Amino acid sequence: MPWLQRFSRSVRTIRVRLTIWNSVVVFLAVLIALIAVRERLRYSLLTETDHVLNDEVKELILAVGRCYPDLDQIRVELVQKANSHRDRGWHVRWLNASRETLWVGPPEHAPPEPLAQEVGALDGASIWASDHFRAVEREVKIPGIPRYYLRVGTKTAFIAQDVSRLTELLAPVGFALLLLAPLGGFLLADRAIAPVQQIIATTERLRPSQLEERLEVRGVGDELDQLAIKINHFLDEIADHLRRKRDFVANAAHELRSPVTAIQSSVEVALQHERTTAEYEDLLILISDECRHLGQLVSQLLQLAEAQSEVLRVSFAPVRLDEIVQRTVEMFAPVAEERGVALVGRADQPVSILGNRQQLRQLITNLVDNAVKFTPPGGRVEVQVEFDAAQHRGRMTVRDTGIGIPEENLPRIFERFYQVSKSRDRGTESRGNGLGLSICQAIVDQHQGTIDVSSTPEQGTTFTMTFPLPKE
Ligand code: ADP
Repeated sequence: MPWLQRFSRSVRTIRVRLTIWNSVVVFLAVLIALIAVRERLRYSLLTETDHVLNDEVKELILAVGRCYPDLDQIRVELVQKANSHRDRGWHVRWLNASRETLWVGPPEHAPPEPLAQEVGALDGASIWASDHFRAVEREVKIPGIPRYYLRVGTKTAFIAQDVSRLTELLAPVGFALLLLAPLGGFLLADRAIAPVQQIIATTERLRPSQLEERLEVRGVGDELDQLAIKINHFLDEIADHLRRKRDFVANAAHELRSPVTAIQSSVEVALQHERTTAEYEDLLILISDECRHLGQLVSQLLQLAEAQSEVLRVSFAPVRLDEIVQRTVEMFAPVAEERGVALVGRADQPVSILGNRQQLRQLITNLVDNAVKFTPPGGRVEVQVEFDAAQHRGRMTVRDTGIGIPEENLPRIFERFYQVSKSRDRGTESRGNGLGLSICQAIVDQHQGTIDVSSTPEQGTTFTMTFPLPKE
């Protein structure tokens, strides 16, 4: 049944639920307030009555004391007292030591028997009560005479009347509050929910291709503002991530197109007309260079994808950094020697971290390759592995005395395809494409490490990496 579904859906909205909760809370609050006021009034009236009756009994006892032993005179006093309060509905009772009534008047205002239930005490007197009567009793203490008790009592109907009159007065107020509660609750909920609906509307407009819009932050600093700030921050990150992905694809395509275009035009040139063997040879060397560059580019793109793959972590095992450094230094020794660069590996003690051997080799290879490439003959490249006892990390530094990196380029050198300038590659055998350091960054990230660079142009560059050590 669609209407039933619609109904149950609308009941589940925060607005309706808040309205219902508000009404329930107001209902309970009004009920409790009414009961509390009623009971308070009843208690006050009873206490007030007890005090007045007590004063009256005290007065009567003084009068009795004055008349004793003239019992007739005492009776006259009692009758007078009883009559004087007849219109207030009071009665007076004179009891002996066994609490048998000796005299009571006026009879139409008094209960037939003395009240049997003692409910409290006040100022040396005792208070007696039944459903419809209340009385204060005091002992008549006159030296030398038998024990008597005097009670002055009243009907309690007037208290019940006063209480129900108050209830009648308050009931319409409570009723009005009950009617207003759902309305107030609904308006409050509507106000509270308005920013949420705005958040929903904005997020509905967002598309992966259109992430410019941001949620409104009203500046009141409440939870919804905090939520909007968090979502906006998250959107910024997603937009940034998507932009980098787009840039990466565009850059990769651009980098791949240059060698392909070069190969294609070389082939076309070769095919235009017959050429000498030497000319064919030159063209084939050119094609071969471009193919090598293309191959290098593709393998670096694969390395990057691999370094970013989460699957890699599954294969992590203890790896000796000092050993890898030693092998890499040995591998680069002939190249360094040819360039006239002194290449040294230093490790005072074995340093083992959890990682992927092949990736860590790649990392050191990239850094040493750059260091040797950008260090002029006579320079020095040093790779050092050590413990950072204070931080409980393994540290590796690749330090060269090469051409350095200008300060303004330093913040960007880990970006994909970022190169300080193509001209710096001239005079080196390999043509870079700006992927080497981003691969390094990805590998270090995978190993939960850090990588930093410091450099002074014409003096040299130092790359410093740290890695967490395995828990013993
Ligand atoms: P590439 O593969 O083009 O060398 P990288 O990502 O490895 O790209 O390096 C980015 C840029 O940083 C390069 O253009 C290079 O100029 C600079 N660079 C990297 N390492 C060094 C270094 N040891 N000394 C001087 N410049 C360096």
